[in-house]
Amino acid sequence: MDNRLQAHFRKQLINMHALALIAASFLEIIGYFLLVFDGREEASLQSRYLWCSVVLPVTLNVAIHCVMRFVLKKQRITKRIKNATAIGAALAMAFLVTVVHKEQALAGCTFIFPIMLSALFNDRKLLNVSLIASLLILTGTYFVFAATGEELLSTWYNYLCLVGFAVVSYGSGTVIIRYSGYSVAAIQKHTEKYNKLRADLLRDPMTGLFNHNTFISRLDRTVKRAAASAKPLCLVMLDIDNFKQINDTYGHDCGDEVLLFLANAIGERCQKGDTPSRYGGEEFAIIFENKGVDEAFDIISDLLEHFSRHRFSFTDTPITFSAGISEYDEGLTDEDFFELTDQALYQAKKQGKNQIFVCK
Ligand code: GH3
Ligand code: MG
Ligand code: MG
Repeated sequence: MDNRLQAHFRKQLINMHALALIAASFLEIIGYFLLVFDGREEASLQSRYLWCSVVLPVTLNVAIHCVMRFVLKKQRITKRIKNATAIGAALAMAFLVTVVHKEQALAGCTFIFPIMLSALFNDRKLLNVSLIASLLILTGTYFVFAATGEELLSTWYNYLCLVGFAVVSYGSGTVIIRYSGYSVAAIQKHTEKYNKLRADLLRDPMTGLFNHNTFISRLDRTVKRAAASAKPLCLVMLDIDNFKQINDTYGHDCGDEVLLFLANAIGERCQKGDTPSRYGGEEFAIIFENKGVDEAFDIISDLLEHFSRHRFSFTDTPITFSAGISEYDEGLTDEDFFELTDQALYQAKKQGKNQIFVCK
């Protein structure tokens, strides 16, 4: 169990403990009234029942519950101490039930609960401690009551059965812990695979930038965020100039080399929170969240200079791109915003390519 799940489990345990406490107290009180109305037992026995089976155990159980609630709700106490406290409370409750109902050997079966609880906490050490504590308490109470002539656990046979139950629940607990270990490992493996698949789904396999679908959904989200805040948002559309000619003259592989070079250069200039994407073919889109148009223009100017200055192995002719930039304005939808930026790109192409057009 991971930490969050264990914390949730402990919270439920407090409620379960309170419920068990209320139910047990209620039953003991009913038992007392049955005894009184039955009228067969002497008054001293009735009074003994009231004190030893109702008042004392209920008070002790309430005290145990309060301690447990206090420790389990305290922020600064470690998870191991909290788990140990929960097991301690369950052991104390089992001890009280066994002692109060000494004439019922089956009452000793309540030690199964702390043992199984330790298994649910997935803690081998705690499981060992609960078994040893259960056996010591069972054995101790058996010998103390046997020596004082009380009828606790009645016979050796009953005592051994209770020890057997505790050992069997311990065995089941070790199996639970071992298999939950396997399950956790399997879940972790699948989670890793899922996360990788999910990350792959978001990206363009060739360039590693975000793909078309991711860009569209992020544009929608960032526009909504910008509309709800006063923070700036910029969109850049970028298209390689005369790319078809590069493919036709030097071949598709050389075209791919150009695409990869530009994609890397775009990625290097983006920060966490930006969305560098391959919109499709030789077109790229970048969402600059929290960046104004001047900052976006500087980044794209630097990119254009770097790209056009680079000389590829297959040609001495500079390869360039055109870009359109626009800043989000109140009231624009994501489609309007995209259309505006695409128009800016169109203007950059129309005015002779190898340039950036900013939509003001
Ligand atoms: P303009 O300057 O007006 O943008 O002209 P262009 O030639 O760049 O634009 P056009 O739309 O005519 O051509 C784009 C080309 O990009 C056509 C297509 O074959 C090529 N292309 C699309 N995806 C890839 C790819 O993954 N690799 C390669 N090598 N080429 C691609
Ligand atoms: Mg082009
Ligand atoms: Mg194009």
